[in-house]
Amino acid sequence: MKIAIIGGGAAGFFAALTAKKEFPKAEVTIYEKAAKALGKVKISGGGRCNVTHACSENKLLATHYPRGENYLKKAFEQFNADSTVQWFKERGVEMKTYPDGCIFPLSNDSQTIIDCFLSEASKLGVKILYNQSVVAVEKQESTFTIQTREKRFQADRLIITIGGQPKRSGLEFLEKIGHTIVEPVPSLFTFNMPENPIRELMGNVVEKTTVKVEGTKLLGKGPLLVTHWGMSGPAILQLSAWGARVLEEKKYEFAVLVNWLNEVKEDELRKFIDGVIYEHGLKMIGNLNPFSVTNRLWHFLLQKSEISQEIRWKDLGKRNLNKLVNTLINDRYEVKGKTTFKEEFVTAGGVSLQDVDIKTMESRKVKGLFLAGEVLDIDGITGGFNFQSAWTTGFIAGKNCGKVDF
Ligand SMILES: Cc1cc2nc3c(=O)[nH]c(=O)nc-3n(C[C@H](O)[C@H](O)[C@H](O)COP(=O)(O)OP(=O)(O)OC[C@H]3O[C@@H](n4cnc5c(N)ncnc54)[C@H](O)[C@@H]3O)c2cc1C
Repeated sequence: MKIAIIGGGAAGFFAALTAKKEFPKAEVTIYEKAAKALGKVKISGGGRCNVTHACSENKLLATHYPRGENYLKKAFEQFNADSTVQWFKERGVEMKTYPDGCIFPLSNDSQTIIDCFLSEASKLGVKILYNQSVVAVEKQESTFTIQTREKRFQADRLIITIGGQPKRSGLEFLEKIGHTIVEPVPSLFTFNMPENPIRELMGNVVEKTTVKVEGTKLLGKGPLLVTHWGMSGPAILQLSAWGARVLEEKKYEFAVLVNWLNEVKEDELRKFIDGVIYEHGLKMIGNLNPFSVTNRLWHFLLQKSEISQEIRWKDLGKRNLNKLVNTLINDRYEVKGKTTFKEEFVTAGGVSLQDVDIKTMESRKVKGLFLAGEVLDIDGITGGFNFQSAWTTGFIAGKNCGKVDF
């Protein structure tokens, strides 16, 4: 039996290694478009590769996927985050869990993951053919023809792991053989705020914020990083993921409302400020920053509220108080455009999950053809979740691809 894996990325390698282990007599070949495999693994997590996330509860793990939650809940029963850590451990790669739950290789180097996959592939006898861009696949009675730019190959089973395709054209060959394509749109991007003076505070991080997209229910929580082009950090990336489609419809022009004090509500904040005035009324407002934001940001927020740093807390007055409260918990910024530069970005959309049996990852449209990874309409927020879905779906496809009887 010839098993062909189209795409030598995270899901492709996991599928190939699992298939070869499960069906040792099969000839397993990876067809990779680029001159090197695992290109995204290499650059992932800033070169460190955030392999997965510390979350043993499958249901909870699945809630980190704006698209694919219900399918993955079932898929994780077969291979979850603990299985990932165990899989790598069995192959000599130790992991380290960070306080935020992100799991990286102990070496802090994505090359460790690549070396592990390549050495495992060579040990098991998985063939890797580079510079093979697959442009079409055709199904005969019980075999497949794979058409690359220059050659044709035959295979008995196919696993498609070509990753996220930013343009629909990259998925056309799958559409041609009957699959439904959910329009691809970017996810996990940062927000551009051209000309906004907040950008002068680049590098400022506020650990706990909540950010809303004005006029929607979209909400991001967590650290917010001010960049030289606008805003980034987990709170923003979360918003971009949950709002991938809505924000695309808005052509990436919308407003966000930032609560710099996390989830603090207006009446709580007013009481807190009353206390500050009572205790420190004589201090100058610019010199006494009672909030967990940097002094630079504090001064910026005062200026935005048109409050002089030199007035004393006791002289704040009702009008200024109202403005300050609003700026602290409901601070409005116009977003114009997005940036994916350097960040972990993924594609929302792809082959519809309704076309796939999540128990086996076999296509419901083409018997003997399996799909795994980001080519599917699955994507997660940052934190190792995107690789986890690639490992899980790759594993399931590899495990089942040799079991089909025509
Ligand atoms: C900068 C960056 C950092 C990231 N960091 C992280 C992280 O730390 N943790 C995390 O969980 N996720 C991270 N991600 C997301 C993660 O990399 C992807 O979700 C994951 O790689 C998807 O795996 P995949 O195998 O489906 O696709 P890919 O890894 O993209 O692999 C697809 C492979 O298929 C090949 N291919 C494509 N088309 C064809 C074709 N027609 N014929 C043959 N081959 C083809 C490609 O060249 C590629 O090698 C990051 C993404 C980016 C861009």
